[in-house]
Amino acid sequence: MMNIYGDYHVHTPFCPHGSNDALSQYIEQAIAKGLTEISFTEHAPLPKNFTDPAPKRDSSMSWQDLEAYIDVIETVKTQYKTDIRINLGFELDYIEGFEQEVTAFLNQYGPFIDDAILSVHMLKTPDQQYVCLDYSRDEFQHIIHIFGSLKSVYEKYYQTVKQSIVADLGPYKPTRIGHLTLVHKFQQSFPMKDNFEAVTGRLLDLIKQEQLALDLNTAGLYKEDCQEIYPAPAIVHQAIAKGIELKPGSDSHQAETIARGFDQLKQLFA
Ligand SMILES: [Zn+2]
Ligand SMILES: [Zn+2]
Repeated sequence: MMNIYGDYHVHTPFCPHGSNDALSQYIEQAIAKGLTEISFTEHAPLPKNFTDPAPKRDSSMSWQDLEAYIDVIETVKTQYKTDIRINLGFELDYIEGFEQEVTAFLNQYGPFIDDAILSVHMLKTPDQQYVCLDYSRDEFQHIIHIFGSLKSVYEKYYQTVKQSIVADLGPYKPTRIGHLTLVHKFQQSFPMKDNFEAVTGRLLDLIKQEQLALDLNTAGLYKEDCQEIYPAPAIVHQAIAKGIELKPGSDSHQAETIARGFDQLKQLFA
């Protein structure tokens, strides 16, 4: 049985596309929900030589805020230590072609990290540009146009996830893969007819081989255009069968959604 007493994917006021809820509000909500552990996993600053392709350029926290982020999490960690275990972490973008930059970030800040997630949000396009996969429905439609088909977007996404799993990012490489089926985020508008079971099955084998865990991310359940947990339930079942560790995360960008949907996780393990 999985531990659902922690929320291991939580954003903070340092996220430019999230709310301004204070860290204390997230922590107090977690305590009120009976959690014993919480991981703050803010989007790490993007490489300095990479231009955020999101239309509002709001994908990650800024470099300027990085020291303050670390300081304030260290402070609340101590402040609340008798009530809840707080982990300092990041959700780190794996970006094809920027492995050295990501590794340099990890080598510098890794010693401060308790818990981190490696996620793919950015895809390299056939004309060597980058796009942000999960920005909006309209942007997703534009991405399908760039790649020529929905199937090509799925193929490129899973290829990039594969690269993230096997990439050598040094000794501080995150030990967990974020929202494995993020490409499903707009599936109610853009349903995929082809079967990707073989592809995702191979990814799970690689995750097992690399001794990585999976982010069991409930955010998709509440996206109107997704209505599904990440990874999709069939993949969760396969992951369990293969003995891959799953760690629940609400991917909260506001305090009130801490541990949202965790009551539904038990049935996945039934
Ligand atoms: Zn976010
Ligand atoms: Zn993410």
